[in-house]
Amino acid sequence: MEIEKPYVSSELDKTEGAEIEALIAASKEPYPDPVSWLDEEIQRNVLLASTEHIIGWAKRFSVWPVAMGLACCAFEMIGAAASRFDFSRFGMEVFRASPRQADLMLVAGTLTWKMAPALKRIYDQMAEPKWVLAMGACTISGGCFRGSYSVVPGLNLIVPVDVYVPGCPPRPEGLIYGFMELHRKVAKDKLIKK
Ligand code: SF4
Repeated sequence: MEIEKPYVSSELDKTEGAEIEALIAASKEPYPDPVSWLDEEIQRNVLLASTEHIIGWAKRFSVWPVAMGLACCAFEMIGAAASRFDFSRFGMEVFRASPRQADLMLVAGTLTWKMAPALKRIYDQMAEPKWVLAMGACTISGGCFRGSYSVVPGLNLIVPVDVYVPGCPPRPEGLIYGFMELHRKVAKDKLIKK
């Protein structure tokens, strides 16, 4: 009569261990959402977003500036537009000569009380939505001319300002950083305002 082999637990442990190792190796990526309602082909070609998000995305890459170069800061503004820094890379293209074609008033330099009514008139002629960027210490606060009888001690006394770029003068990189901040603000702009 053949004698039965004793129960060998180490063999079972090895088999079980191999199964677990195989499962670990095959479990590197999470399973996709099982209730996904788009098939794979459509998922590769459809982007879901709100209308407001898409319009905000498009608007921020087509902000056209009307130039208000009022003093020495204007040279850095011109430098930012020229080939080395080339802010048309951000969809800003050329300076607009007409306020009716512009979204952004880019004020660079010392604003005098004599110039202020003309600046305000140009701002009022720009269509909504519109934004204002104050470039340099003089525009922001009067700078080194603050206290002078002829200098406006802050652009925000005349028009609402969205972005301030400090410096005397700010470098083109600083102005471009200001544009990035403005883009973030434009992207968040609501279509329907309360
Ligand atoms: S901030 Fe400086 S560089 Fe700019 S306009 Fe005033 S004085 Fe000129």
